[in-house]
Amino acid sequence: MERTTILFATKNKGKIKEINAILADMDVNVVSMEDAGITAEVVEDGTTFEENAMKKAVEIMEISGKITLSDDSGLEIDAMGKAPGVYSARFMGEETPYPERFAAIFENLKDVPEEKRTARFVSCIAAAFPDGRRLVSYDTVEGIIGWEAKGENGFGYDPIFYVPEKGKYMAELSPEEKNAISHRGKALRKMKELLRKEL
Ligand code: IMP
Repeated sequence: MERTTILFATKNKGKIKEINAILADMDVNVVSMEDAGITAEVVEDGTTFEENAMKKAVEIMEISGKITLSDDSGLEIDAMGKAPGVYSARFMGEETPYPERFAAIFENLKDVPEEKRTARFVSCIAAAFPDGRRLVSYDTVEGIIGWEAKGENGFGYDPIFYVPEKGKYMAELSPEEKNAISHRGKALRKMKELLRKEL
């Protein structure tokens, strides 16, 4: 029997690596947009992670004709009204270096005590099948916004996100340690269980 091909709608090589590692024990072949020769850009204009993830999955499924997965993720800082949220990638402008964003966040939270510096990374994974089936999984990792940027691993806001259960900043964790506890790792593992039932 031919292996099922699943397209993962991202241009981010790191995300493809993560999903390949997590789906490795399933009989599926995960391909990237580049592998599938798709260059379309999906406008992420939704107001929720789920809206954006599903929009991307459906639009790319319609172009590719393949089962398509996509994820939308971001950081919610409670003391900033859950900002930057769905705008995490664009917070202060897409080109703004992360250290400048960190400085603005620290300034914003300068009078906020530790117990109110709660935050979470959120990941929503959507799957769209050509026959109309739709799946969604969602998960988070809880932490606090620290007082400094620390660690060289990961990407994005990892250096300012302190993970109490690890006693370290996210950017201080190895990729394996991060995958085991991260929003995306957990949401991807939930999606894998949903896919198992459908394939
Ligand atoms: P997306 O690629 O449109 O889902 O945008 C996600 C944005 O949220 C990224 O550009 C990062 O700024 C932030 N983000 C999502 N996941 C993580 C993570 O695991 N660590 C750090 N930042 C993240």
